[in-house]
Amino acid sequence: MPPARADIAVIGGGPAGAAAALTLRRHAPRLAVRLIEASDYSMPRPGEVLPAVARSLLEQLGVMTSFEAQGFVAGRALASAWANDELDERHSIFSAQGPGWHLDRARFDRMLTDAAMAAGVALSTGSAVRSAMPEREGWCLTLADRSEVVVRAVIWAAGRSWRLARPFSARVRVHGDLVAHSRFIEGVAGDNRTVIEARPEGWWYSADLPGDRRIVACMTDPDLGEALALRSDQGWRRALDATRHMRALVPVDARIGEALVRSAGTTTVEPAIGRRWIAAGDTLFAADPLSSRGIVHALRSGIIAAYAAADLLDDDIDKGREDEIRRRYAMISTHGFQGYAQALAGHYAEAARWPEAPFWRSRAPVDIARRMGGTS
Ligand SMILES: Cc1cc2nc3c(=O)[nH]c(=O)nc-3n(C[C@H](O)[C@H](O)[C@H](O)COP(=O)(O)OP(=O)(O)OC[C@H]3O[C@@H](n4cnc5c(N)ncnc54)[C@H](O)[C@@H]3O)c2cc1C
Repeated sequence: MPPARADIAVIGGGPAGAAAALTLRRHAPRLAVRLIEASDYSMPRPGEVLPAVARSLLEQLGVMTSFEAQGFVAGRALASAWANDELDERHSIFSAQGPGWHLDRARFDRMLTDAAMAAGVALSTGSAVRSAMPEREGWCLTLADRSEVVVRAVIWAAGRSWRLARPFSARVRVHGDLVAHSRFIEGVAGDNRTVIEARPEGWWYSADLPGDRRIVACMTDPDLGEALALRSDQGWRRALDATRHMRALVPVDARIGEALVRSAGTTTVEPAIGRRWIAAGDTLFAADPLSSRGIVHALRSGIIAAYAAADLLDDDIDKGREDEIRRRYAMISTHGFQGYAQALAGHYAEAARWPEAPFWRSRAPVDIARRMGGTS
């Protein structure tokens, strides 16, 4: 079969990829866009608390009406036992931006790609991009089903999957490990809260989700997770029972879903933008979920990447303008990362209750600063 052709391929139909595809349709309708997503969105996805600041981005993408029709949970409060063992509850009415949302992530992601499709994006699901070969004027992508797509530029938004780093000559830098051992809990009454609890082995979080579900996750170091056998039902339940507040969110008769184990540490890719490719979302910079900036960063960087990609494909572009686009995109990413690193060190410092515990010892501000500087 001859290869499909488009001006731009967006690899990955998460929030970053969908935001990029939608923005391209709105900002540069002359360009043919193909969005390639590995999954069919049928599996549960973690990453569900969307801060209120996302509203302006969803409006910019023109999806606010569809978003509101989804009936996601409005976040009422953040309750955290962080600096000490007591639960401190901050109500969202005291937030200048109002309440955020607790999403069904697979449904949210699907809603965004549906909107992209309705805007004229060619969407293919269920087949991952396996390889990328440079072409004279762009890239030839080969998918898992062996079909090929030839494009002039790529927006690389594959989340925490960096398998295309080699063909893009990009370097992946891991600044800190963290593993999320999550479980969906079915059949629990909603309370519209996010709950966070610091523990010697790491920290736990839980969010009330649409449809009488909660997510409960233990965030810890890879070796500590193995030592506690968090992948097993018994190990996870044992660790949960040792918490003070988290365990109260999981009634004994609740249905606890299967283990969902995901890496959740800080990782960046360099450069942020290369020859006819631009990284966005987690692929560009994957944040520790403690920062609660993952989805917002994904949407924002997807939008900015789309503008940069459209400008790079301008027929009248000269070398000077091209260099300027690259320089600015790289600068925006670097600034975002610097702000994140400082904030993250501050968050972890507030909970330094177990300075001798390995998890917390490796998150002292000086260690975070060293690792984010990339010197380790
Ligand atoms: C346990 C956990 C909890 C989190 N909680 C929150 C939270 O509460 N709030 C928050 O804002 N953030 C949270 N995050 C982070 C948030 O989920 C991510 O930052 C966000 O999903 C990034 O969006 P993205 O589009 O860059 O990547 P993703 O959402 O990962 O999407 C990437 C997409 O690319 C597809 N893909 C991968 N490889 C290929 C390929 N080769 N070809 C085609 N498609 C491909 C994947 O199937 C996926 O659909 C959490 C993360 C974790 C791990």
